[in-house]
Amino acid sequence: MKIITRQIEADEAPASFEKQYGRDRDGKKWINGRTRDETIDALNALPKPVNADEVDRIIGNDSWTRVPTCDDCGKCSLDAVMQLGQEPDWESCTAHICHACLKAALDTIEKATP
Ligand SMILES: [Zn+2]
Repeated sequence: MKIITRQIEADEAPASFEKQYGRDRDGKKWINGRTRDETIDALNALPKPVNADEVDRIIGNDSWTRVPTCDDCGKCSLDAVMQLGQEPDWESCTAHICHACLKAALDTIEKATP
């Protein structure tokens, strides 16, 4: 179980981005006009707490700071979700659930159990 907010995503983005893509092997420019090394160095140079808008600007999109869509109600642009289940992977059983859906689930299970 893990909470995900835009700030948490931004704080984790430099290390997560470097872990996923690694250092440059080919020196190609990305869509953001930087090489991978330049992107990683720019992310690592950001002061803490990391500014999510700066992460988006450096990478060229908001995919590294976006809070996942709720897997129950389908709402997006949420402030926070809880990640439940296994660590995300290709075949993991993972759900991202918003506050309203968590409350509804708790209410339901509390009414159904003595
Ligand atoms: Zn929801």
